Amino acid sequence: MDPITIFIVATLMMLANGWVLGLMRNDFPEALRPSAGTWRTATLLLAASAVLYAVQYRLPLGLASPMANGLVLLGCTGYWRALRQFYGLPDRLWLLAPAIVGIGGIAWFAIARPHTGMRVLILSGSCAFLLLACFALLASQKSHDGARSRRVMASLFAAVAAFTVFRAGYFLLKGVSPSFDVTGDGAWINMASPMITAILPVVGTTGFLLMCSQRIGRQWELAASTDYLTGLANRRTLVAVGEQRFAQAGARGGGLALALIDIDHFKAINDCHGHAVGDVALRHVAGHLQASCSGADFAARHGGEEFVVLWDAADSRAARAAGERLRRLVATRPLSVDGLPLAMTISLGVALKNEGDSSFDELLHRADEALYAAKTGGRNRVEVAG
Ligand code: GH3
Ligand code: MG
Ligand code: MG
Repeated sequence: MDPITIFIVATLMMLANGWVLGLMRNDFPEALRPSAGTWRTATLLLAASAVLYAVQYRLPLGLASPMANGLVLLGCTGYWRALRQFYGLPDRLWLLAPAIVGIGGIAWFAIARPHTGMRVLILSGSCAFLLLACFALLASQKSHDGARSRRVMASLFAAVAAFTVFRAGYFLLKGVSPSFDVTGDGAWINMASPMITAILPVVGTTGFLLMCSQRIGRQWELAASTDYLTGLANRRTLVAVGEQRFAQAGARGGGLALALIDIDHFKAINDCHGHAVGDVALRHVAGHLQASCSGADFAARHGGEEFVVLWDAADSRAARAAGERLRRLVATRPLSVDGLPLAMTISLGVALKNEGDSSFDELLHRADEALYAAKTGGRNRVEVAG
């Protein structure tokens, strides 16, 4: 295959990818649409550049070279912007700087002082900068985004950047004649160039779609497992984690304690201050419970104004002491409403896994009975199930 055919095939693949992304755009969740839209535009810009590369030596150099290379630089800038949008980073005008400097330099060495070597150097430098910016952005998201697709994409950008630098070095070492033609036959690197250029719009688009799909999957998982209001685990997760911890405690003979926690006179908070303040109060208590958790401790919203905390406890004295710490934490750190403290207390029913418990549900049931005793015993107290 000659380079022109490769450019044409690459263009068709890029256009197909841009088209598919365009078809899918409305299926993306609202938050991902800007990023997907920008990725698609960048892909189409690279497709347009591939067309111009294929025909640039039939057009005046001063027009074709800055345009074809400019489209590549704008396409790479588009990928950078799309990734920034994906990670919620704001748009900045300076993102255009590498492309503007690159296009200006290429135009200068195409029109004012024609110099092929300088054009290759400027295009490669600007391109490598943009690709490495994409790589750095993806690499910097390591702690927030553990998806494999992110790592694949980072490697892809790094590989294309490395090829760009290698290609510039190759041409500069070999010397570029003024009649240099990227579509010229013979040099293997002229065959490799369009193929490598097509990697981002083609393979990269697949990688980008995987990044989106993994993001959507994780969001669904999170929504199904957490409580929307407090951010704690929801009841479904509590049951799953509870059953697992119950089985583990049974297998290794360790202690498992469960506290069923209910906010005292919570209805009065809703009635006096309104439902919105009630919601803030729920988040406040949830925050205290979450903050008190360490290691394997686990907090969940059981429903309404009831919460559950699970932790490893060897005996009922240790379990009562841990319950007391939670009770004191809530009682001594009131919520501030309009600058005034809103006192809140909780009652806790604590149950320790014992020989007689055949399931997590049974443990929960005993904690519920202890909670009832705490309520009837005067509230703001801890009762441990016998
Ligand atoms: P007790 O000390 O006996 O537990 O009394 P209480 O008022 O806390 O208990 P009760 O069961 O009478 O009232 C619980 C209230 O919690 C009633 C319900 O409207 C409120 N509630 C449940 N879920 C939410 C929520 O998500 N937000 C708000 N603001 N209120 C909620
Ligand atoms: Mg209740
Ligand atoms: Mg209550």
